Amino acid sequence: VQEKLVAAERMASLGTLAAGVAHEINNPLSYTLSNLNFMEDELSAMAGSGEGLQGARGQEVREALKEALSGGQRVVDIVKDLKTFSRGSDEQRGPVDIQAVLDLCGNMAWSEIRHRARLVKDYGGVPPVQANESRLGQLFLNLLINAAQAIPHGDVAGNEIHVSTRYEEGQVVVAVRDTGVGIPEENLDKLFHAFFTTKPAGVGTGLGLSICHGIITELGGRIAVQSEPGKGTTFQVFLPVHPLPLGEGGG
Ligand code: ADP
Ligand code: MG
Repeated sequence: VQEKLVAAERMASLGTLAAGVAHEINNPLSYTLSNLNFMEDELSAMAGSGEGLQGARGQEVREALKEALSGGQRVVDIVKDLKTFSRGSDEQRGPVDIQAVLDLCGNMAWSEIRHRARLVKDYGGVPPVQANESRLGQLFLNLLINAAQAIPHGDVAGNEIHVSTRYEEGQVVVAVRDTGVGIPEENLDKLFHAFFTTKPAGVGTGLGLSICHGIITELGGRIAVQSEPGKGTTFQVFLPVHPLPLGEGGG
């Protein structure tokens, strides 16, 4: 118990730190990006009107600017994710209806899902889990968006994101299965590391699964992944159900 408390405190202070860092980074980052944007616009205009920076050197400068802008965009995305991460790590827990949370996440991710796959739900009645509802929402939203992003846009036919729940030996098990690109074997043990991503700036930061891992660990659960490249991926989340103390909620 002591160890868990220390871990939870560490999470909370990490959250506070992340919020502070995110705030401090936002200001200088936004003027850096707006200056870079300005320079890019000016250079294009100058090249267009023959005032300078045409030719190979001009092209190099414009490419350097483009890289700086996409690097900056990545930092913007990361700061946004850090803010989400910092939110609510010390919020209260209560009994949460997992299926209601999954429905909500499905709706929130619908704009990502609708052009890629059918969303199929297969809920086996499960008991509530003692957790923080919005943290659980973050967790499943991340998994659903990852599932959607693994499937090519516009390819709905034959593609499926399958969300199921079941109860097994004191645990609620939520499985999110997709028919996406899959995960190469050599990436499997890096998935939960912060900042591991195979997505371009503006799409992914590599923080999603590390946040998921944190949320699940806080609840004493675990996450497992199975994947077949070219076929699809299944993430399974196992969350312990703590029985209510005697005298509460009984028959
Ligand atoms: P992000 O989505 O921002 O890249 P995540 O931590 O959520 O960060 O995921 C890390 C990486 O794991 C992704 O970039 C992707 O390569 C891989 N991944 C996660 N979920 C899936 C999935 N359902 N199918 C295929 N690859 C996935
Ligand atoms: Mg993600």
